[in-house]
Amino acid sequence: MLFRSKKRYEVRTAGDEVLKEKALPVPAITPEIRELAQRMIESMQIFDGIGLAAPQIGVSLRVVALDVPAAEDAAKLTQGELELCPQMPLVVVNPEILFASPEVGEREEGCLSVPDIYAPVTRPLRVMLRAQTLDGRLIECECGNLLGRCIQHELDHLDGILFVDRLTQEAAAEVARPLNQLLHYGSKHNFKRVKIK
Ligand code: ZN
Repeated sequence: MLFRSKKRYEVRTAGDEVLKEKALPVPAITPEIRELAQRMIESMQIFDGIGLAAPQIGVSLRVVALDVPAAEDAAKLTQGELELCPQMPLVVVNPEILFASPEVGEREEGCLSVPDIYAPVTRPLRVMLRAQTLDGRLIECECGNLLGRCIQHELDHLDGILFVDRLTQEAAAEVARPLNQLLHYGSKHNFKRVKIK
């Protein structure tokens, strides 16, 4: 009889120390980094996310996986969406935001590390992203819409920041109870969500 071997995927949840650390830059794209990238893409897909940062699977390195659709309104598309969205799922290494637009906007965010909690976060509408791809290409482009938002959210993870750390007092009060429940639940389950597939 033939059995397909099952894989175990884990995502760390709010309260885990690794999510509070500043992740280290990747010195070189080695086979281990490619393996990490593959595991990140699989984890992002299995947990049904549009982005995942390496610390979310317990690895404190500056690596981000993205799977973001471009804006539907073609007139609103930024260069970043035109360049990057067709390549998704895409893993970027050592991403940086070179600058952010002065215009900001509010949008509801969620996070695989903060399951079932959603709240509005105000962020710049567009950011200039610089990053490296796994095949060593340098990306430098302006990213707006959902992509710009997702990049800012994921890069925050690399600096130990969760979206719930960026809420207004009012929004923080709204999620305080479920967030405390999540922290309590996490403390009893090693701050891990697990899926076997
Ligand atoms: Zn997140």
